[in-house]
Amino acid sequence: MPKKSAKSAAKKTSGKKGSPMAEGEGYCVKCKEKRVMANVKQVKMANGRPALKGSCPVCGTGMFKILPPS
Ligand SMILES: [Zn+2]
Repeated sequence: MPKKSAKSAAKKTSGKKGSPMAEGEGYCVKCKEKRVMANVKQVKMANGRPALKGSCPVCGTGMFKILPPS
């Protein structure tokens, strides 16, 4: 069965809105989904900002998340 027009039909998984991103969660550009990163490491960027580095547990793509300044 061809799923063609699954565009705006997906009103997103029946969840609560505005739930904060879980710790270590990032966006995988390959899966195009939010995932909890594997092998998360906190790193510091060149400008001193903290960031999280990890990889997608599904496809292994490297993921990066900039943390908000505290
Ligand atoms: Zn992925």
